[in-house]
Amino acid sequence: MRKVFHWSVKACTFKAQISMAQSKNKYLYTKHWWNGFALAYALVMLASLLRIWPLQILGMKIPWVTFYPAVMITALYGGLYSGLFASLLSCLAIYFLWPFFGPNPIIVEGADWIGMIVFFLNCLMISAIAEAMLRARLRAFIAIEEADKANRSKSIFLANMSHELRTPLNAILGFTRLTKKMDGASENIQANMDIVIRSGEHLLNLINNVLDISKIESGTLKLEEKTADINFLLHEVHSLLSIRAVEKGIVCSLSIHPDVPRFVIVDQGKLHQILLNLVGNAIKFTITGTVKIRVNAVRNGTPDSLRLRFEVEDTGVGIPPKDQRKIFEPFFQISQQEIKETGTGLGLAIGRQYAELMGGKIHVHSDEGKGSLFYFEIPVTASSESSELLLAIQGRMTRVVHEKDNQKILIVEDEPVNRLLLRNILAPMNYDIREASNGKEGVDIAGNWGPDLIFMDIRMPVMNGKDAAKALKSDEKTKNITIVALTAHALEEERQEILTAGCNDVISKPYHENNIYEILAKYLNAQFIYEHSEAATKENTFNGQTLELLPSDLIADLYNAAMLLDSNACAAVTERIHLINADVAGQLNQLISDYQFKQIFDAITSLRSNGKL
Ligand code: ADP
Repeated sequence: MRKVFHWSVKACTFKAQISMAQSKNKYLYTKHWWNGFALAYALVMLASLLRIWPLQILGMKIPWVTFYPAVMITALYGGLYSGLFASLLSCLAIYFLWPFFGPNPIIVEGADWIGMIVFFLNCLMISAIAEAMLRARLRAFIAIEEADKANRSKSIFLANMSHELRTPLNAILGFTRLTKKMDGASENIQANMDIVIRSGEHLLNLINNVLDISKIESGTLKLEEKTADINFLLHEVHSLLSIRAVEKGIVCSLSIHPDVPRFVIVDQGKLHQILLNLVGNAIKFTITGTVKIRVNAVRNGTPDSLRLRFEVEDTGVGIPPKDQRKIFEPFFQISQQEIKETGTGLGLAIGRQYAELMGGKIHVHSDEGKGSLFYFEIPVTASSESSELLLAIQGRMTRVVHEKDNQKILIVEDEPVNRLLLRNILAPMNYDIREASNGKEGVDIAGNWGPDLIFMDIRMPVMNGKDAAKALKSDEKTKNITIVALTAHALEEERQEILTAGCNDVISKPYHENNIYEILAKYLNAQFIYEHSEAATKENTFNGQTLELLPSDLIADLYNAAMLLDSNACAAVTERIHLINADVAGQLNQLISDYQFKQIFDAITSLRSNGKL
């Protein structure tokens, strides 16, 4: 009795699950017992009609065969109960409707009854199997739904978490960068600021790593290609990680082949992340010896399209052959006792996906105990755009030229610290600036004051940024104002929603002041003059002739250091040059800090080939 009760409860819960699933996905799962019974009725009727015509010639022979398809289809559609109902209807049809089928009754003697029982038992089996299949399908469907739900909750959780972490990081990184660029900051202070910036960026990287894995899992990862300074990117990775290498007593060298163009169109963020991970691992898993970063260009025929080959080689602990594939799986780590530093096991999994998205593949060759070589090639397009903004990454903006005077900018942001940060970035540029602490206030001020551009935070009390943008765009008076959203939210869908709400552009927090300059250049036609763009003009005056005045041993040392792209070695040589000719040393230092090793290298080569050295 208890068993019967147990099974009835199970059957009811199953039905409840079915209708739950049904309500979510009508197309995939349209099972409903009423439908099953109706189908049973219709199909048994159809089988009976077939028996009347055209199968009447069969008379009382093989009557059950006609009804099997009806039972099977019903059971497959509706499960056990519908199948049993169809079997029962078939038996009744054969027993009562025989006058329509032929001259004699079909069920007459004991053997006919046995035939009916066998038919019923077969149908019971068919229905039970169909029920099991349906349950398995439903379970799979519910599991997919639950996994989707869990994935959605995870993405929302991660997006919220990253929002909470990015907002204070925006202030930390932004103010540190501003303070670093202030006049009067000593070299010591600047070096300390650099550490804060790097640590903040590392933290940001970790947050991004976790987010990226969830984006990869949900298939929403996209390429963001634009002109990037490869030289700068590589030196940044090198200098960022060299500190760790030096601490461990490892030599970390960077060599960029002269054929590698300085500016290429590539997804800089993703490339940066792959290289940081590969070089970081190489240093982490090397106890003594060297880590070599090499970059080569492989031309593809057309002058602008080429493949860049990145190699990171170490003399570290190596990877056993059986694990060389597995290290690219998320969370896979080899337990190496001699390595103290920990990791997340996500870096290579993300790197592999990024490289594939960029059209390449990360390969590894490794000898256990001897070291590893990781390499990948990605297609890139050389860019002629050596934009001011790219140079600005390394330099300091010194002047701004406005298209017209007194342009007005409204900052709508609830966080006072972030308002202050943006005001500080904009302060040297002579804009007329006003602030609002929520969307409602922003809409009111914009209506009365008519700013040229609004920087709009998205999450705010009273009225959020999206609603404020909608309100502004639907008002004749304010609909032409450029609205640039500032968001610490990291999901692509959110970005799309922001744009649909009426914002013209989106900047992700934490932002670099260059992101703000880019917006001002794009929407207010501001022109920025940087220390480096001025330096670049000066740099053109370097024609290498001045090198003729230097002793040949210094030239040889400079040539070797430039060939190795080693800024420290170059700086050591220029210190010696400074004692002889301060002007030439100054010019060379400028080139070295701009990573223009090729110019030095070319100048010496041309003087040598002209026999002047
Ligand atoms: P993490 O370094 O955070 O553990 P990764 O995904 O970057 O995660 O690397 C996964 C694993 O692959 C590492 O834990 C390590 O066992 C192995 N590995 C990666 N790079 C190297 C390397 N250069 N030398 C030796 N082992 C490596």
